[in-house]
Amino acid sequence: MNETIKLYDQDAYATEFTARVISCVKVDAGVEVILNQTLFFPEEGGQSADQGTINGVEVLDVQINKGVITHLIKENIEEGTVVTGVINWKHRFSNMQNHTGEHILSGLIHKKFGFDNVGFHLSDQIVTMDMNGYVDDEQLRLIEEEANEAVYANLPVEAVYVDHDAAKTMKYRSKIDIPGDVRIVTVPGYDICACCAPHVARTGEIGLIKILRSDKYKGGIRLTILCGSRALEEVSMKQNQIMALSKMLSANPEKLTEAVTGLQDEIFRLKGVISSIEEKQIDAKAEDIPEGQPYITIFEPELSSNVHRYYVNKLIQKCSGICGVFVGNDEDGYRYIIGSSSIDVREINNIFREKLGAKGGGKPEMVQGSLCGTKTEINSIIIRMVGYDKKRD
Ligand SMILES: [Zn+2]
Repeated sequence: MNETIKLYDQDAYATEFTARVISCVKVDAGVEVILNQTLFFPEEGGQSADQGTINGVEVLDVQINKGVITHLIKENIEEGTVVTGVINWKHRFSNMQNHTGEHILSGLIHKKFGFDNVGFHLSDQIVTMDMNGYVDDEQLRLIEEEANEAVYANLPVEAVYVDHDAAKTMKYRSKIDIPGDVRIVTVPGYDICACCAPHVARTGEIGLIKILRSDKYKGGIRLTILCGSRALEEVSMKQNQIMALSKMLSANPEKLTEAVTGLQDEIFRLKGVISSIEEKQIDAKAEDIPEGQPYITIFEPELSSNVHRYYVNKLIQKCSGICGVFVGNDEDGYRYIIGSSSIDVREINNIFREKLGAKGGGKPEMVQGSLCGTKTEINSIIIRMVGYDKKRD
C-alpha cells in the first residue's frame, strides 16, 4: 500500500481537507479507515494523535505503520468515497506550542551541557522530557529564561526535508540512520532536530515556556513542562489556589510560606499541650487500676498517636498478661497497640490478622496496627489468649 500523503507536513495550519477512502476495515473497536491523504497527525514520537472528525464522525485514534496512517472511527465508510476531515485546531495548536517549546529547551540544554533528550511525552494530560544528564534548579531557571527569549524574538521555525546523503554530513539532534529523506526542524540559534511533528511557524506563537518541575530520573532528569495556552491554564489554576490560600491565611501571596510555617509551629506547640493533658489523664486512669491484672483492654474514641504508646507502657506495669489500647469505634475499626511483659503478643496479632483483617506487626513485647472488629470480638480473643498462651522466655 502507498504511504499516506501527510498534509500536515505541507501546512501545519490547515484544519480541513478532503480525501479518498482507500480502505475501511472492521476491527473490535470500530473501523480502521485509510485515506489517500490526511491532516491527522498520528500518535508518533511521544506525541498524542490529532483529534477531529471524518464526515462528521469522531476520530478516536490515529496510528501510523510504515508510512500508512490509519484512522479509527465508529461508522463504516465505502471504499472510494470522498470524505471531508476536520481536525480539532485548539488541540493541535496546543501540541504545536508544546512541541516547539520542547525543542527550544532540549536544544539549549544540549548546547550548554551536551545532554540529549532521550524521552519525550506530549499527552493531553502532561508534557515531559527526559534528559540523560543532571541539570540543577538554578541552571534550569536560566535555561527557561533563555528559552523565553527565543519566544520574544519571534523567530521563524523552519521544517524541511533534507536528502538522506546530505543529512549524513549535517549536525542535528535525534540523529539516527533511517532510510529516506530526513525532516529537519530548525529554530535559528537555538535548535536543529530531526522531527516528524507539526510546529508553530514562529516562536512568538508559543506564548510562554514554563518548566513546572524537575525530577531525578534514570541518571538524568525528567522535566515536566507546559507551553502556550496550557501554561496559561496551569498558571491560572495555581493563581486561584494561591489567592484562596491567601484569603484563608490572611497573608499576602509572597508571604504564604511564612504563614504556613507559623501554622506548623503552632500545631506542633498545641500537640505538645494536648499530649501533656492526655498524659495526665492517662496517669490518673492508670492509678485507679489495681496491680496484677491478667489482662486490660481500654477503648478510646480518640487519642493522639504519640500518647497511645505512653498509655500502653503505663498499663504494662499493672498487668501480668496482655494489655491493649484500642482507638476508634466498632463501625470504623480501631488503631491498636498491644503490649505484655510476659507473653509473646505477636501471636495475638496473628489471630487479629486472621479473624479481624488486621494490618500491622511488631516485636514479642509490643505490636501495633489497625483492624476491623467490635469491642466484644476483641475482648473475647484477648481473654482466650490470656487463658491459653504460653509464657514468654
Ligand atoms: Zn520533535
